[in-house]
This record gives sequence, C-alpha cells and structure tokens, in this order.
Amino acid sequence: MKNANPSTQSAMAFIDREFEIGANYQRFDQRNDIFSRAIWDPSVKPKNFFKSYDVANYQPKKSKGFDHWDYALRNASWHLTDVVAELKWHSEGKVEGFTNYYSIQTPGPKVKAPELSLSETTSRIKKAARVLGAGDVGICRLDRRWLYSHQFQRKTGTSAKLDLPKHLSHAIILILPMDHRLTQTIPSALGGTTTGLGYAASLNVANALAQFIVNLGYDAVASLNDTALSIPMAIQAGLGEYGRNGLLITSKFGPNVRIAKVFTDLPLQIDRPTRFGVKEFCSICQKCANACPVKAIPGGKPQVKPPNFSSHNAITKWTVNAEKCFKFWVGMNTDCAICIRVCPYNKDYSKWWNRLGFKLAATPLRKMMLWLDNLMQFEKRLSPIKWW
Ligand code: SF4
Ligand code: SF4
Repeated sequence: MKNANPSTQSAMAFIDREFEIGANYQRFDQRNDIFSRAIWDPSVKPKNFFKSYDVANYQPKKSKGFDHWDYALRNASWHLTDVVAELKWHSEGKVEGFTNYYSIQTPGPKVKAPELSLSETTSRIKKAARVLGAGDVGICRLDRRWLYSHQFQRKTGTSAKLDLPKHLSHAIILILPMDHRLTQTIPSALGGTTTGLGYAASLNVANALAQFIVNLGYDAVASLNDTALSIPMAIQAGLGEYGRNGLLITSKFGPNVRIAKVFTDLPLQIDRPTRFGVKEFCSICQKCANACPVKAIPGGKPQVKPPNFSSHNAITKWTVNAEKCFKFWVGMNTDCAICIRVCPYNKDYSKWWNRLGFKLAATPLRKMMLWLDNLMQFEKRLSPIKWW
C-alpha cells in the first residue's frame, strides 16, 4: 500500500487537501489539551480520576469490570510507563512521554556507523523497529506544523516554548497494536489494561529504536503523546486514515492501536500517504457516534469549527468533544474506548475473513459490509467475567 520516497511536498499537499487546512492554522498549545486542562481549568474537574491510577487509591467498586482485580491489573499495566514518566518529575517537573519527550538515552559513539544507501538504511531501521516490537512503521519528514507550540508543565501549571532540536528532520512513526479482547470489555477498568499495555509497548519500542539510532552515531528522540500530534504524522507516513471517532484507522490493525514516534537526523526514505476508503466508509457509518454514551462524536459532515478550544481550529475534520469525553472518563473512573470497540475496522486482521471485510469497506460494497457488521454484532461487549 505504501510507495517509498515521494517528495515531502506530496505528503504536505495530501494532508492540506484532505483536511482543508486554513491559512489561520496555528500550532497547538499543549496547555489546552484536556489532560492539561484537568490541572489548571476549574471547569474540567478530574475528581479522583488520576488518583485511581495510583496503587493505593483506586477505590474499586463491586461491579464487574471495576473491582479490585480489574483495577489491580489495569494499574499494573501502567506501572513501568508511570515509573519512567516520573523519573524527572521531582527534579524538573517533567512527565516524560506525556508532557516531555524522553531523555533516557545513553550517549552513543563519536564515530558514525559505516554509511549505507538510503534504501538499505531505511530498510534496516524498519526491520529494527519491527523486531523491537512495532506492529507497523512508517516514515515522514518532520512537518513542524504538528509540533506543539508549547509544552505544558503539570507541576507548575505553566507552559514553555517547545525545545525540540531543529536538526531533527525525520519522524519514524511506530504503530503498537493493542489487545483486541481486552478492548472488547470496554467500558471497564479491566479494559483500560489494553491502554496501559499499549503505552508500555510504546515506551519500550520508541526508546529502544531511539537508542539503536544513537548507537549508530546519529541523534534520536523518543516520544509518545508529548511534543507533537501523532495522528497527522502517521497519516503522512502512510500508516492509516482519519476516522469519525477522531482516531487513526490503521491499515493493519484498525483503530485499536497506540502511536509512538522517534525524531531523528538520520537520513531516511519517506513513505507516501495512503487511502483505503475510511472517509467514505465513515460517511455512511455512525456506529461510534451512536455508541458514545455522551454524544461526544459528531454525526454529520466534517466541520472546521471545533467544539471547544481543546481541539484545533482551521482544520476541517470530525472532531470529538474532548470536554464531554473526559467528563465521561472521570465519571467512570477509568478511560473509555467504546468508539474503538464498536468500530467496524476494529477487527483481528490475522483472520482472512476480516481482511476480506477490510477490502470490501474500500469498495462500493461498503454498505453491504456495514450491514454484515451490524448483523454479526461484532461490536458487542465482552463481559469482563468472561475475559477472566
Ligand atoms: S472514548 Fe468514550 S466517551 Fe470518549 S468519544 Fe469515545 S466513546 Fe465517547
Ligand atoms: S465506527 Fe464507523 S463512523 Fe466511527 S470511525 Fe469507525 S467506521 Fe468510522
């Protein structure tokens, strides 16, 4: 599906065309994302939401999927990511992987590895990414429009201008598939384990790949949710399309993924954006919008005006109302991904019939595919008790 080495212009032009990016577009200030607002904005009240991720504070309920066992597993899945994220919390106020990119790489050699051709270098980097655990990998030139204008510091509630070094010219985008059956149990604290596992895998692969590149004598910075918007970069790197649910729909795993990235100065071949019919399919499918308990997902056409300042303006797209969405998370005391669970693209693509359905969704037979999906009730929630 991907062709290597198109011009940078084509990836930028593609995204400009797909999302009608206006001249008044401005880089996003991380202070305005909903998790930052939970720190400084009294209208976003997180109650005990963040505390519920602490080992001692998760206040289990009696209900299935939210009991002591469920929270214990969910929080265990987050443990490594949290420990690394907080390494510099006390000294510098950083939350690495969330407000700041990682700074845990060990310095590399002074001498660079013997130079190979661009295609051989790219092939080796992708092979390394896969063997380290990425489900898919794509490369784009670093389009600086997606970098945050400012990084938010949760400890002080202040923002500082983003400091990503200018010589980092490329972004390697890593796709980490999440556990399909755990996602099927959502909404539940148990289901949040799939998110925690996805982050732990992201942390490992991104940092190991960055260290590999550093060991080759180049510069590399590993990043999860910090520093830049991952979805437009993943689209430019040919890894998927944008869905009504505001998520990346990947060509290999659907929307049930996490995205990590490595910024580097290592010269690499770039991939070309790809289309496989998501926009057309989402236009006839409303499953995520209908299933969202708080109606945070728009049912109509893509709009340029965002529902509130936690999303970009000047980009025509389906935009989830982050305020409504987060409020639901807070009320439930765990994260939600019903909009992933019910999505017809959320399938186990190791099965041939699901790969066939994926192909059908890209053709004029998409209505039949949607009808079949409804008939088979693939979106049905799996009882957490059955999962255990
Ligand atoms: S995560 Fe849940 S609340 Fe948020 S948009 Fe998706 S379905 Fe709605
Ligand atoms: S549920 Fe349907 S409308 Fe929503 S993202 Fe998936 S395919 Fe698109």
